Amino acid sequence: MKTATAVAQTAPPRNSGPKSDGLKRVSAPLTAPLAPVKVSPVREGPAVASTHFIRSRIGKICVAITGANPAEMLQNAEQIVRENHFVEFRLDYLPNPLAVIPKLKQFLYERGEITAIATCRRAATGGKFKGTINAELEVLEKAAAAGCHLIDIELQTAEHTKPAQMKKLRSHGAALIVSYHDFEATKNLDAVLDRILPFQPEFAKVVSTAKTLADNVAMMRFLDRRRDETNLIGICMGEQGVISRVLGLRAGSVFTFAAAHAGEETGPGQIEARTLRETWRIDQIDASTKVYGVAGNPVRHSLSPLMHNMAFRRETVNGVFLPLQTTRLTDLLTLARDVPLQGLAITMPFKTDILKHLAKTDVLSEKIGACNTVVRAQDGKLYGFNTDVAAVVRPLERRLPLRGAKILVLGAGGAGRAAVFGLVEKGAEVFVWNRTAETAKKLARQAKAKTIRREQIAKSSFDVIVNTTPVGMRGVKPAFILEPKELNTRLVFDLVYNPIDTPLIRMAREKGLPVVTGVEMFVHQGARQFEIWTGKPAPEEEMLRVVVHALRQESARQEPAKERS
Ligand code: NAP
Repeated sequence: MKTATAVAQTAPPRNSGPKSDGLKRVSAPLTAPLAPVKVSPVREGPAVASTHFIRSRIGKICVAITGANPAEMLQNAEQIVRENHFVEFRLDYLPNPLAVIPKLKQFLYERGEITAIATCRRAATGGKFKGTINAELEVLEKAAAAGCHLIDIELQTAEHTKPAQMKKLRSHGAALIVSYHDFEATKNLDAVLDRILPFQPEFAKVVSTAKTLADNVAMMRFLDRRRDETNLIGICMGEQGVISRVLGLRAGSVFTFAAAHAGEETGPGQIEARTLRETWRIDQIDASTKVYGVAGNPVRHSLSPLMHNMAFRRETVNGVFLPLQTTRLTDLLTLARDVPLQGLAITMPFKTDILKHLAKTDVLSEKIGACNTVVRAQDGKLYGFNTDVAAVVRPLERRLPLRGAKILVLGAGGAGRAAVFGLVEKGAEVFVWNRTAETAKKLARQAKAKTIRREQIAKSSFDVIVNTTPVGMRGVKPAFILEPKELNTRLVFDLVYNPIDTPLIRMAREKGLPVVTGVEMFVHQGARQFEIWTGKPAPEEEMLRVVVHALRQESARQEPAKERS
């Protein structure tokens, strides 16, 4: 009988089947036929469940289950399996993983519909288990005997496992996943898989860390290139790796991992299962799904993915909208070209710099020097629009005639520029105040507006005061941009939308003034983006509902935390 080491030494040659051209196959359908999986020479005893059978049971999302003790782990599992039948028990999260085995056995026995992976990753390879390789193998063997369908060992563990140990590990019929995690970078993916394949696992898992958006492309190309050689799972960790967690499936990853709940991630950048399923509709992503995203830094807490994915779903658009976190525009442009991306919501700090990379922009973007919406037209070129302007102007137009209206704009940054140019164009008399007076002067000159000194504000009265500074945003200090005596106006518009009821909005309400909240602008600019990208009318009311709901939930979460601190 060949040993694992011997197998390792006689590694099978790489698949000599047709090589792909990389890019095109990134979007290949997920219906590719399964390659037959070779039987490991070290496999004896009960037959390992056929990988076809396992794949027919598992779906695309495996939810990681943790717990501080066996009871908590199984309690969590109890809740998770109501919605997810494919789970990973992270036994390394338990102080004594062996203690859960009897209960785990009972749990799996009673729930035949579940497919379970057992993992007990050692601290040396990125997990939490403090024991030795032998102790890890003992836990996994017992988990397999308890009914786990798959056991996951790290490549480094496999390379230090004796053939007899491997035989024992596999003697209960569980399928083997050999994994590799790189917590630093996305590199040498092929070399890693070449080290994994000699162990002839039923599944090979290669996990890297994305430092750039382009790393996701590297992962997807790798999946595409090697998908026919084994049942391959490929993911990039980290905030910039989110794309691979969603699009990796159509590039060839057999499944992806998800967190049970926000805050219970077992890997950096892991997404909550419900978000993957319900917001990103991961089950419906196929070769023809168009990819959109919000690009900037930071975009982690952006509500754009929630709003646009809901709109896609509602209007049956085959599209997915992702957060594209990056500090470099060139990185974004590489991703946009290689995926390719169909549309982009551009946010800080790229609204100006993106302009020179676009084939054409609308007149407003050019005038203001900022673009927040990019679309890939049928000719493959990128075109830019500015929907921020309409999103400031329209909510005001609905409430008062703008021609001749006296409007104070606080701030002269990107949003301030959109407001001033848009309102001047509608015939309003616009006054600009900015913390840095020079910037206000420059904007006023360009847009044919006026500047106003701070001490004049309390002595003046306006039809509208618009706040375009971040003052009032959650976590930004100071909280107030104006004092009550300076609020001499008929209407207040605060562009800040998180929280919805900013200090300025509350102050206005206390004075009995009508208000326009930033959430109205946010939804409006998003609705126009949706229309530019899809050519369909946006479901604006639904978009507003979902954003307001998310913001209210966040406020509810923040308030008790504030009370505690
Ligand atoms: P930006 O380009 O960085 O401009 C920020 C502006 O605010 C600058 O004029 C800056 O003045 C001023 N500012 C910053 N901190 C200040 C402080 N502590 N006191 C007084 N002024 C201060 O940012 P932006 O893109 O325009 O965004 C500004 C705000 O608008 C953000 O809160 C953003 O969330 C909000 N916004 C909302 C929407 C929406 O859809 N509702 C859309 C776009 C933007 P200096 O020139 O002196 O630095």
